[in-house]
Amino acid sequence: MSTERSGVTSFTNLRFLCVTTGKPIDYEVPGDAQTLKDLWARTLLRSCCHCGKVHRFDFRTAYVDGVLADLDVGASELVSPTEGSTAPFGSDER
Ligand SMILES: [Zn+2]
Repeated sequence: MSTERSGVTSFTNLRFLCVTTGKPIDYEVPGDAQTLKDLWARTLLRSCCHCGKVHRFDFRTAYVDGVLADLDVGASELVSPTEGSTAPFGSDER
């Protein structure tokens, strides 16, 4: 899964879980306000690349999960390796 961040056309990444395999499925939709507004309250159908079935999912849920997935990647990049880890000199056993 390569993520190209061209930034020219805005796409929003949706993510939902395959109910059969439990694996995440990413689904990109145009990220403009009109599309989001139109899809917001809808239930979408998406053929699954893992099990081959068609799954129904709530746009809102998938949208939030997609955003959180993006934030998770960004957050791990932002946290510096020394932050939050044990102090280098605190190596005595507990
Ligand atoms: Zn599936």
